[in-house]
Amino acid sequence: MLYNNFSSYLKTKYGGRISKICIDGGFGCPNRDGTCGMGGCIYCGERGAGEHIDPTLSIRDQVSSALAADQRSRGFIAYFQNFTNTYAPINILKERYDSALISDRIVALAIGTRPDCIDDEIATLLASYSDRVDVWVELGLQSASDRTAELINRGYKTEVYRRAADILKSHGIPFVTHMIIGLPGENETDIENTVSLINESAWGIKIHSIYVMEGTRLAEMYRDGEYIPPSREEYVRLAAKTIASLREDMIVHRITGDCPDGMLVAPEWNRDKSGIIEEIRKTLERDGLRQGSLVCK
Ligand code: SF4
Repeated sequence: MLYNNFSSYLKTKYGGRISKICIDGGFGCPNRDGTCGMGGCIYCGERGAGEHIDPTLSIRDQVSSALAADQRSRGFIAYFQNFTNTYAPINILKERYDSALISDRIVALAIGTRPDCIDDEIATLLASYSDRVDVWVELGLQSASDRTAELINRGYKTEVYRRAADILKSHGIPFVTHMIIGLPGENETDIENTVSLINESAWGIKIHSIYVMEGTRLAEMYRDGEYIPPSREEYVRLAAKTIASLREDMIVHRITGDCPDGMLVAPEWNRDKSGIIEEIRKTLERDGLRQGSLVCK
């Protein structure tokens, strides 16, 4: 196998098809409401990555309609996806997570959040679900560089990610770290540094290709000529190198990003998700690489 992809991991672990239910938990984001920043990360859309979810439905209805529509899957991951899903008082968090776990067909609870919204109390709550379902947290790091973090208006320093990683580890909660290839001002060394940091302690990784989405600050930068996304060839090369630089046991949840329908400004190649994945695989094969082969032993 070229890399430990998430779908193979799920098949081995659960013995059948496992589907994801993307949930809008009704949360906000401290990087949008002024708590740690305003306007959000420069690539983030108005729905905070939940463009395809119907926000009018309750959590319970989002989950039950997804369960009813899919009788083929053996199990489901309840994935709180958009905005910051640990950004609320602890009783609200519990109420919302509980309302997603309404069936024993749900085998896992995944919580997308920011590292500055993880503390011991939240980690204790999340760990309390692990006797019923698998639990993991998804942390939006994107880059290990504080210079990039400022440029993209991430709203926290990289040391905050390290702290969150330590808290989660101390509670036995695995986490998936998100990184983006192609951020403004980043060079290959920045990407290598990000991969090294993720290798330190993450259970899984989501590698996103950058895309410029309508209505974002990045779209303004693109139109003003302040930002040029990487070419398809460059992305494929960097993604293949990133995979080869990952710890062998890391679970690779994603190797590209896909912009919501009708919202893509650039690059055009972002529309060809399956083609990009195939090219990354071919590049790994052509160069004799696989996950872990560029990690110093
Ligand atoms: S932390 Fe997430 S939800 Fe908040 S602005 Fe950044 S990308 Fe958007």
